[in-house]
Order: sequence, then C-alpha cells, then structure tokens
Amino acid sequence: MSEQDVPTYEVYALQYGYHTFYPSYMFFWMGNPPLAGEQSLMPNAYYLWLIKGPDTNILLDAGCTPEAAQAHQLEGYADHETLLGRLGLSAKDIDTVILSHPDWDHLDGISVFDESMPEVYVHEAAYAWHLQVGRRYELLRAVNMPSKEEVDKALKVMDAGKLNLVKGEHGDTVEIRPGLSVIRTDGHYQGHLAVVVETAEGPVFLAADSVYLYGNLELGWPIGLVRTSLTDALDVFDMIKDVTAKGGFAVPGHDPQLPEKFPKVEEGVFRIA
Ligand SMILES: [Zn+2]
Repeated sequence: MSEQDVPTYEVYALQYGYHTFYPSYMFFWMGNPPLAGEQSLMPNAYYLWLIKGPDTNILLDAGCTPEAAQAHQLEGYADHETLLGRLGLSAKDIDTVILSHPDWDHLDGISVFDESMPEVYVHEAAYAWHLQVGRRYELLRAVNMPSKEEVDKALKVMDAGKLNLVKGEHGDTVEIRPGLSVIRTDGHYQGHLAVVVETAEGPVFLAADSVYLYGNLELGWPIGLVRTSLTDALDVFDMIKDVTAKGGFAVPGHDPQLPEKFPKVEEGVFRIA
C-alpha cells in the first residue's frame, strides 16, 4: 500500500464524567511541581475516544457503567448510548474496542457491548497483570486495583472469543489497521497501549493514561500513578516526539481543559481531528 492509500480517520473525545477533587500527586510524579509544597486537589475528566474511519467505528477505551460511576462518585456521568447517540451512533455500531489498559474507568463499560461483541484489543502483559499479578498483593486488592468484578468482566470479554492480545515490548508499535496503530507505553500500567491514528491534521497520539494532562506534556513531567517504572513513563515523551516530529499532536487522557482546546460538536462531544 502506498502512502497516499493510507486512510485518515476522524477522532472525537466523548466526556462521560469528571471528578472535581483529585489529588495532584496522582497526576504528577512527586506532586505538581509548579505548586511546590502546597499540593492541591485538582479536577479529573473521563473520556471515551471515538475513531471513525472508512466503514469502521472504533472506541479507544470502554469507559464505565452507571453502577461503576456511582461507586466511584463520578460527577456529570453520561452513558454510552447518550454520548454515542449525539453522533448518530449506538453501541452496536462500534466494531472494535481498544483497551489502553484494564483499569475501571477504561474497562468497566465493556459490558455495554456484550451483545454486539466488537473485536477487543488489549496488550497481553496488561491482561496478565490484571488477571493475575495485581490480584496477588493484598494492598492492591484492598484498593480495588483490580477488583474481583473487573477481573470477572475481563474474563467475560475473553470468553466472547473476539479478544486480540497485542504482543510487544515497551515502545513497540503494532498496526491494527492501515493508518491506526497501538504503541506499548509502560509506566502507568504494564502493557498500557497508546493509539496513533492518521488524521487530516497528521498523526494524533492518543495517550490514554500514559500522559494524563497537558501539564505533563508542557513540563515533560511524568504522571504520578506509575506502576512499572519512572523511566518507562518518561520514555513516553520521546515516543510522542517521534510520532509528531513531522506534524500531528498528542492528546492526554484525563485533561479537564480538553473541551477548551477543541470544537464542541454536541454536549460532551469534542472533535479532536
Ligand atoms: Zn484512567
């Protein structure tokens, strides 16, 4: 396939909820550097990422159900049908779900697709961590990371038989479709996947939880909630530079300022590219 045959995609952020108060040490390694000793609480925003291509509707991350939203005291929750409906779509129109990683705010909503059974992509290391490693430690079980419900839900997806386990080392790129790839971006999670998608505005690096905020990008300061290593989280900045060297841009996964940076298409729906 020659370069001009690579399709381009449209990308939308669908905000499904927010937290007003979230500790800044989760967003920034060792806390928010500009705030020095005075560590504040900050807002946190939660998104689904719709990638629309020729004859395909792909979601990066599945969000969460109303039950999980309530359990986690998410504010301003909007469910999948409401948000997708604003773009003239419903859950059954989603043919592919890429899970950046199986934390509750990315995995839990997968049950919305139980009937339509889209193809699901997740890295094999993230899957193993979720199903086995994380369950071994009392502390992690105590803070529900991951919870038994999450593990059960993940197994249900696996049983549906349309699960694609992505392989590769930290920094490896795997093409899913022409013009759409995942990059293994450890740091936040073993086997975390960011997405690189070709758009009319160049390649867009959808960071998911490998970079939470524009503040992380601007300061070159890694996220606080790191489960693998600090240098893994730092490497992500170089991966972004490589992808966007000739154009395009990166979008952090949880930034509440995102709605101010992109055009609003409908309530809670923003056109990234
Ligand atoms: Zn998250």
